[in-house]
Amino acid sequence: MPSTILCDVAIVGGGLAGSLTALALHARRPDLDVRVIEGGTAFGGHHLWSFFGADVMKAHRPLIAPIVAHAWPDYDVRFPAHARTLAQPYYTVRSERLNAHIRATLPALALMTERKVLACSTTAVVMADGDRVEARGVIDARGAGDLSTLECGWQKFVGQELRVAPSGGPATASRVRW
Ligand SMILES: Cc1cc2nc3c(=O)[nH]c(=O)nc-3n(C[C@H](O)[C@H](O)[C@H](O)COP(=O)(O)OP(=O)(O)OC[C@H]3O[C@@H](n4cnc5c(N)ncnc54)[C@H](O)[C@@H]3O)c2cc1C
Repeated sequence: MPSTILCDVAIVGGGLAGSLTALALHARRPDLDVRVIEGGTAFGGHHLWSFFGADVMKAHRPLIAPIVAHAWPDYDVRFPAHARTLAQPYYTVRSERLNAHIRATLPALALMTERKVLACSTTAVVMADGDRVEARGVIDARGAGDLSTLECGWQKFVGQELRVAPSGGPATASRVRW
């Protein structure tokens, strides 16, 4: 039988934005009953996110620090006729780490995966399985939505992944495009 869940804050979508919002809320107000409602099986999806140190304010870094998988002291930009080094630390975050971190930090009750949301308002969420969430506030973090009215350019990344054998055996390189 469909049930109604009552809580303080319902976050719809457990991607990067929804998960970080839940973690930030939990850090500041652990007394709040927060639910993160995600349609997929894991929080954060399957992404590799990267950013410069200056992209995240110092005050916000403790939120990101537990999910950083790799860090570099600077960043090289290379074209055939031109190369320079940006004196900026660079970081990479893996969604697997975000998923593990949110599961280790928030109470199990807060984490609702495989729950597709049909519709939400500022205080209510209706799920495909018939359940309903009533909250003092709903945050819609279902992603960018319809971008068809924007005139966007393209950004292409080409990365190189180097796999090194632990015993000093031969290394293999593969190109990764996303
Ligand atoms: C391979 C890749 C690499 C990227 N790298 C970078 C990067 O380095 N830096 C950067 O800034 N950006 C990067 N991006 C862009 C990236 O997508 C966004 O920065 C970020 O993922 C946006 O997060 P979000 O939480 O707003 O949206 P999303 O990641 O889209 O999360 C939305 C979540 O809501 C859930 N959801 C949606 N609808 C429903 C529903 N009806 N019911 C229940 N749940 C629902 C989805 O399952 C999803 O988990 C990258 C994107 C890709 C694909």
